[in-house]
Formats: sequence, structure tokens, C-alpha cells
Amino acid sequence: MTPMLTMEDVHGAYGPSEAVHGVNLHIDEGEVVCIVGRNGAGKTSTFRCIVQDMIRVTKGSVRFKGQELAGLPPHRVVQMGIGYVPEDRRVFPTLSVMENLIVPRPMGSGKAKYWTIQKVFELFPPLEEFKSRLAGNLSGGQQQMLSIARSLLIDPVLLLLDEPHEGLAPLVAREVVNAIRHLKSTGVSLLLSEQHLHLVKDTADRIYVVDRGITVFDGTMEQFEQDPEIAKKYLMVVRQES
Ligand code: ATP
Repeated sequence: MTPMLTMEDVHGAYGPSEAVHGVNLHIDEGEVVCIVGRNGAGKTSTFRCIVQDMIRVTKGSVRFKGQELAGLPPHRVVQMGIGYVPEDRRVFPTLSVMENLIVPRPMGSGKAKYWTIQKVFELFPPLEEFKSRLAGNLSGGQQQMLSIARSLLIDPVLLLLDEPHEGLAPLVAREVVNAIRHLKSTGVSLLLSEQHLHLVKDTADRIYVVDRGITVFDGTMEQFEQDPEIAKKYLMVVRQES
């Protein structure tokens, strides 16, 4: 079976400065894959290499269902069925929750839409409760729900979630974990980045560790846990001696 998404020896640069120095990963249909790494390891930049946002792929290939994505405009990538929830969430703060949800347009593929506003309200009940509230007045957790809901309304086959639990209170983070589990059951492929592995431990099928812009580990959660040296080497905070 051909993977849904493949990144082969991907390098990416912000202007003259290269930040991704060789990322190799793949995602199969229906898989949940998690990228982990320290702050600044290159998780966000890896997502940007997929959605062609801000960074320029300078070497290697990023293929989605066999089609090269490098060099495409970001809106084309979305139209192909890739949803992206960036770390900064990007909701429209001066529009209401409902208005934020009306903005995404269907792909026009002719297929019946799976995700409707009613379905995203069922996934995230607080959005229905606060549907008239300005998005800028929502809590961080509610904004995260709105951002995920917006990206679902394009009916993605692959959804990228960049640190979806970042900055959320434990209870709200748990709600997002449950929503991700539900998404997995709908068959959508998911690529997420996470600093707190325990939150995705039961959901992720495989993980990649990224360090200094390079993928340095690929395996199941079980394989990762069998080798504590990997976490020690690549995930623990390095203390600078003063
Ligand atoms: P974090 O968890 O802190 O978001 P990350 O693993 O997502 O970290 P990136 O944000 O991808 O890491 O950063 C990887 C490298 O790219 C860092 O050296 C960072 O300084 C650099 N970088 C990120 N964004 C930009 C940008 N817009 N312009 C230039 N360099 C950038």
C-alpha cells in the first residue's frame, strides 16, 4: 500500500537559513502519527514543509497520494484534503464562533460532506454553547476546539495538529485528547506534534523523534519505551552550565 504522505530527505529554509536538514517520514491511511522533539527541534517547520507555509522546501520530496507538494501554493494543499491547525490557532478573533465556522468552504469534490457544523458541535459542545461569542473572547482551550473544528469543515483526509494541547489546563487538554481519539475513529489520518507524550500515548500508532531538523527515530510507542536512551538523548531538557 502506498503511504498517504511521504517525506523523503526533506530540507527546508526560511530565506537563507535552513531549519529542516533531512526529515523522513510517512503516514498511512487512517494512521495517527506523532512528532516529538524539544523546543526548536523542528516540529513546526516540518508541518510547514507539508503545507508550504512560510518555509521553502529546498531539497527532497513531500508527496501526498503520490503528488509532489513542494512548490504548490498553500491553498492548493488544503484543497487536496490536508487540514492544518497551527500552534497559534489562527481563528478570526473579531468574528463570532458561528461566523468562524461558516468561513471554511467545502472542497467541491461533489462528494457528500462528512463534517457539518452540527457534527463539530457534537464533537466540541462548548462551541455550540458559545456560538454567538467573539472568538477572541474564548478561552485558549475553546479557541483550540474552534481551530480544529474549522479545519474539519473542509473534510480533510489528513489533519495536521501542531501541539494541540499546548498551554491548555489539564482538564481541557483531556477534552482535546478525547476529541483526537474520536477523530481517529472516523478514519481520518492524523499527524500531530506533542511535547507531552503521555497525552497521546494511547492514540498514536507510531512516533517520530525530531532533533535539530532531522528525524532520528521512527517506531511504535512500545519500541520507543523499550529504549529509554532515546528520550534521554533527544527529549530531556539540556541544562546549560553557567
Ligand atoms: P517549538 O516546540 O518551540 O515550537 P519546534 O520543534 O516546533 O519548536 P521550530 O519552530 O520548527 O521548532 O523551529 C526549528 C528552527 O527553525 C529553530 O531554530 C527556529 O529558530 C527556526 N525558525 C522557526 N520559525 C522560523 C522563522 N519564521 N524564521 C526563521 N527561523 C525560524
